[in-house]
Amino acid sequence: MQKPTSLQRAEIEQKLRDCTLEGYITGMDRSKDWLDSLSAHIYAGTFDAPEYGLCKRSMDSGGGFSIFRNNVGRKGICKICMRKLMRNLSSN
Ligand SMILES: [Zn+2]
Repeated sequence: MQKPTSLQRAEIEQKLRDCTLEGYITGMDRSKDWLDSLSAHIYAGTFDAPEYGLCKRSMDSGGGFSIFRNNVGRKGICKICMRKLMRNLSSN
């Protein structure tokens, strides 16, 4: 599959916001108290069982995470996670 277009990217971002993208969810780091200024990260898995974040900043130093699920905040979705997601989806 060739590189996703910006239209496909917008479509996927909308699905993330609607929680209809299979296999991935969004979440915001629960350990921070300045949530409004944070980007949401993308996590593989489901709301019941999120598995791992797609970028380094989505996990804590021990490899764990505590997130507010399905929350993209004011800053939207992390660009690094988004790039990684597009790569994952286009390699299927
Ligand atoms: Zn991220």
